[in-house]
Amino acid sequence: MDCLFCKIASGEIPSEKLYEDEIAVAFKDINPTAPVHFLVIPKRHIESCAEINAENSSVAGHCFEVIARLAKELKLEKGFRVVSNTGEQAGQSVPHLHFHVLANREFGWPAG
Ligand code: 5GP
Ligand code: ZN
Repeated sequence: MDCLFCKIASGEIPSEKLYEDEIAVAFKDINPTAPVHFLVIPKRHIESCAEINAENSSVAGHCFEVIARLAKELKLEKGFRVVSNTGEQAGQSVPHLHFHVLANREFGWPAG
């Protein structure tokens, strides 16, 4: 399958990886919108949050374990934001499930 994040997960396309195990990979966003901005993705291709189900949800849960682990390692104790744009109207540009983790700036709410 011709999927950018599958290629990043396999190492075919290089990235600045912060963490990797057999289920998930975390890497820096190429176009950061905060001083800390990385993405956590499952290695397995799941298109988006809309495709999470009883069979694959443990993979999504594992991504959140990775997020908590990296938040501790990177000392994000002041807080961080996790975002998963899902579908066209929400601005998803890469159709492979990913969680943005953003930190070290002020954030507005509701998100624009
Ligand atoms: P989305 O727009 O789907 O919510 O998020 C996709 C994110 O992937 C964007 O923030 C974009 O900067 C990032 N991105 C797109 N292509 C690459 C790439 O080749 N390498 C890395 N590290 N990030 C990418
Ligand atoms: Zn993929």
